[in-house]
Amino acid sequence: MFNIDMEGIDLEKIYDLIVLGGGPTAIGCAIYAARFAMDVLIIGKIFGGLIATTHLVENYPGITSTSGQGLMEMFKDHMDSLSIPYISDEIRSIEKIDDYFVLHSFFQQFKAYTVCIATGSERKKLGIPGEEEFAGRGVSYCATCDGPFYKDKTVCVIGGSDSAAKEALFLAQNVKKVYIIYRGEEIRAEPINKKRVYENDKIEIINNTNIVEIKGDTKVKSVIFESGKEFKIDGVFIEIGSLPNSDLAKKLEVETNKKGEIKINRKSETNVPGIFAAGDVADAPFKQAITGVSEGVIAAYSAFDYLKQTKIEY
Ligand SMILES: Cc1cc2nc3c(=O)[nH]c(=O)nc-3n(C[C@H](O)[C@H](O)[C@H](O)COP(=O)(O)OP(=O)(O)OC[C@H]3O[C@@H](n4cnc5c(N)ncnc54)[C@H](O)[C@@H]3O)c2cc1C
Repeated sequence: MFNIDMEGIDLEKIYDLIVLGGGPTAIGCAIYAARFAMDVLIIGKIFGGLIATTHLVENYPGITSTSGQGLMEMFKDHMDSLSIPYISDEIRSIEKIDDYFVLHSFFQQFKAYTVCIATGSERKKLGIPGEEEFAGRGVSYCATCDGPFYKDKTVCVIGGSDSAAKEALFLAQNVKKVYIIYRGEEIRAEPINKKRVYENDKIEIINNTNIVEIKGDTKVKSVIFESGKEFKIDGVFIEIGSLPNSDLAKKLEVETNKKGEIKINRKSETNVPGIFAAGDVADAPFKQAITGVSEGVIAAYSAFDYLKQTKIEY
């Protein structure tokens, strides 16, 4: 059940812009919209988004080093300083009526002339036997959330991205041993994180290996490699990328690419006039908080421009 604080929210009002999402992209978009004096509302399922699950952010300009949670607390302070209303709710569908959009959640309807979809992505699953069965009992998709339960244990991280490397580095602070199991030749982390991984005695990389099953009893005990070898492990952290949360957009006939990402142009416009998209849900190949914020900010500007052109009194 969502904690829907409706104080100060007028359900009859047609907002200039509703931003969907609670991550950096949505907040960046709303901050600019508020500064353009637009009547803006943010609706997000969970405040903070994906970045709030990482322990270390060292690449956001102006902030040398912080946690993802710390970064999003700063975003929240900025949002609050502009009195931007935020509702914790999940939008399930969007429909166009006359010159505005109606956004439906389970219990409410919200109206806006323009919408920015910044709904991010969900973690990809391996889709192998044992993954679902042991979810929460040794299988995790978030080292920051679950890592502390594995003190002095042996765990593995599945994946070879920069995120996977950072998950392994975080886990290594507490556990006895971390194996990075990667199907490719060499992990693809940022050079600085790659170096940290290679220099960390607790981390070992197993390359060119896929796991095909996760086994256990009441909790995870081992993983099975493609070769058939059984490998003893206490925890499996899966970090193999993500899938865009674009179903809402698809139902509205917003165009997506083969990966399901929303197609946007350099103005963060989609093919549907009045609908903008930005961040991890959109089709840029490189996805970070800063790139999402940048697309979100452009979406706010484009929505402002759209309103100037379509609403004479604006
Ligand atoms: C382990 C890890 C480490 C990372 N480290 C870094 C880093 O150091 N630096 C960096 O810049 N990036 C990093 N990233 C990437 C970064 O987290 C993402 O690029 C960024 O969070 C994208 O922001 P977003 O707002 O577009 O999407 P998200 O952060 O995914 O936010 C999407 C939001 O939309 C909400 N939502 C979804 N569906 C709905 C709906 N139907 N209705 C309402 N709300 C909805 C969600 O609850 C969520 O709040 C990392 C990612 C991972 C996994």
